[in-house]
Amino acid sequence: MTFSAVLALTDAVSTTQPWHGFTEAEILPAESEQRRDSRQMADLRPVEPLETSPTVAKSEVSADDWQLLLVNPWNQLPEGYTVELTELRNGHAVDTRAYPDLQRMMDDCRAAGLEPVICSSYRTLETQQRLYENKIRRLMNEGLSREEATAQAGTVVAVPGTSEHQTGLALDIVDASYQVLDTAQESTAVQQWLMANSWEYGFILRYPSEKSDLTGIIYEPWHYRYVGQDAAREMRELGMCLEEYLEWLDGIDK
Ligand SMILES: [Zn+2]
Repeated sequence: MTFSAVLALTDAVSTTQPWHGFTEAEILPAESEQRRDSRQMADLRPVEPLETSPTVAKSEVSADDWQLLLVNPWNQLPEGYTVELTELRNGHAVDTRAYPDLQRMMDDCRAAGLEPVICSSYRTLETQQRLYENKIRRLMNEGLSREEATAQAGTVVAVPGTSEHQTGLALDIVDASYQVLDTAQESTAVQQWLMANSWEYGFILRYPSEKSDLTGIIYEPWHYRYVGQDAAREMRELGMCLEEYLEWLDGIDK
């Protein structure tokens, strides 16, 4: 059974159908205390419909929303794409529409006693080109052929034209105490806070460790992408990366 089929089933059971005798454990991976209580009630009174499931099964979000622009190894930034930028104090810049939520997230993170540092934000095509070529050169210096280096570089530094940083909606954020882009970054206090809270501000950790096959990018516990608060909340509830979520939205639009 596909994930979307599971969701469709969950929705049908919870909102329109009376209790037919199978348990939620068959269709939901986990349940809260509250849901467990409600199931006990349902067991006593099996003809009553279940309460509405907390699992997302409908959405106000459209796959065409500007916040959901898909840029990945298979989807180039649209030709002639322009973005209105807001410059940040440290020389960085983001899409003006994402700025208020970003500012709020950074303020709240600092208010929690942490020190987040934005180390990358909007990039021009030229900047991306330079980063990409530098990476290829470094890998060739380590002994790889140009072909091998090019293939490997593309999984670490996005091929120019396919970087989310060119949208102005992506940021690399690190902990001031550990400004290194490697997997150990995930253990820093700033990442722990961002991973737990960024969705409330409309940001997602864009390249989770278990989704590399779908995103085409290695685990990056520092790269955050603005998708808007509704989409971020739904993606969190669904456990989906952007690629999966867009497919899911297309499915429920029909
Ligand atoms: Zn990044």
